[in-house]
Amino acid sequence: TTDAAQAIARLHTDLFIDGQWRPAASGATFTVENPATGAPLTVVADGSADDARLALAAAAAHQADWAATSPRSRSEILYRAYQIIMDRVDEIAAVMTAEMGKPLAEAKGEVAYGAEFFRWFAEEAVRIGGDHTVTGDGNNRVVVSKQPVGPCILITPWNFPLAMGTRKIGPAVAAGCTMVFKPAELTPLTALLLTDILREAGLPDGVLNVVTTTDPGAVVGEWMTSGDARKVSFTGSTEVGKILLGQAAGTVMRTSMELGGNAPFIVCADADVDRAIDGVMVAKMRNMGQACTAANRIFVHRDVLDAFTDKLSARMGGLVVGDGAAVGTQVGPLVEQKATDKVTTLVDDALERGARIVCGGERPDGPGHFYPPTVLTDVDPAADLMHTEIFGPVAAIIPFGTAGGDAKSDDDEVLRLANDTPWGLVGYLYTQDIDRADRLSTDLQVGMVGVNTGLVSNPAAPFGGIKQSGLGREGGRLGIEEFLDIKYVSRPIA
Ligand code: ADP
Repeated sequence: TTDAAQAIARLHTDLFIDGQWRPAASGATFTVENPATGAPLTVVADGSADDARLALAAAAAHQADWAATSPRSRSEILYRAYQIIMDRVDEIAAVMTAEMGKPLAEAKGEVAYGAEFFRWFAEEAVRIGGDHTVTGDGNNRVVVSKQPVGPCILITPWNFPLAMGTRKIGPAVAAGCTMVFKPAELTPLTALLLTDILREAGLPDGVLNVVTTTDPGAVVGEWMTSGDARKVSFTGSTEVGKILLGQAAGTVMRTSMELGGNAPFIVCADADVDRAIDGVMVAKMRNMGQACTAANRIFVHRDVLDAFTDKLSARMGGLVVGDGAAVGTQVGPLVEQKATDKVTTLVDDALERGARIVCGGERPDGPGHFYPPTVLTDVDPAADLMHTEIFGPVAAIIPFGTAGGDAKSDDDEVLRLANDTPWGLVGYLYTQDIDRADRLSTDLQVGMVGVNTGLVSNPAAPFGGIKQSGLGREGGRLGIEEFLDIKYVSRPIA
């Protein structure tokens, strides 16, 4: 739309280093495309290890001054940035939809969600506490305070171009850390707009340094091995997370890792099926299924299987697919061709192993990376899509339990299936039995559980996983701790 085109034309598309917009040292640029049309949107600077070095040098040079600023002043910068984002929701959403594909209504939802991290951490900046006690023998004071960890490396994925940035930048600013930030190469524009907004909000030069690049291994590798960064906060694939953990070992860097998921969505025999349908539509279809929290495996008890499958395919089949910028679109394109190819391969594999298509499955011709909302049932637990993040609008139903059977053994069966994965980010369960909800949420091997809800993400809550889904938490009261070191001072009592 013209809105997006105008907003993109106004953007700074260079690197942002030490308060200056500057082209890549090599002069290189890369093209950002609209996934709904394949059309180029603009070009942005393609940074290299040389640019990365300058960016981290700026962050390191400003760390001490930044750490010495008052918590209130850092809080006010975040609060102003929150207000500017909310004043510019439509513009930011238009840019996000253009580069990433999600429908405008969802993009606006993400802008509000993303802004909320700034408001949350504006409130946390002035509440960084400590501890004070006396040793058991009464001879010493134990004074515990918190200090910023130092320059941080922030790396974000393309699926939530604003919120993944604010969820890291917010606590880093609040804690008093300087930053180097590398947004995903598929969606740099929202991140560049956010950079401008933070500057307008009064963030001092050198505190946030942004390098866009098509060579993340080189840019981030430079930061990881230089010795100047003290912390890396990453959201992305488990594969890349493991590379970063290996590099972090070299300088014993603090790490926060939000990695992949393989979320089970459990519908028990006693579930309210209509509520479960509402929940699974959110858990499955938010962002066209391109979320680490997406319901990847939908386990439905045989007692409610037919009702659930019929209602889900009616809802999924009725969704309007199209360009996210068009009025009425409910499902946009996937982010790139590779994504639609991957979904196609996973669906083909499931079909070969005996799954049935209830709706969807036919990839349309024409431009854009579209895949239709699809429901598969009778999915074999051995199918590849049970062990891979689908990252697309495909609902895979796996029946469990025995019709009218023993509830305890049904619960055991679904827990065994749900926990049979190296990931452990989030699980969803629908039941009206409070004891069953308690037992299943205790025994699911995940960092987050949605009980009778399909949405767990919230700035007030600690987001994160266990097992190979990651380390640390973002948001909530714990989010800022990831950016703080603890110092204990011992003082004899006179
Ligand atoms: P996704 O599947 O979501 O694209 P990735 O893990 O590939 O997940 O990408 C997430 C982020 O990690 C992106 O910003 C990407 O540029 C970055 N990235 C990819 N490869 C590396 C790497 N070798 N080192 C550091 N960052 C990387």
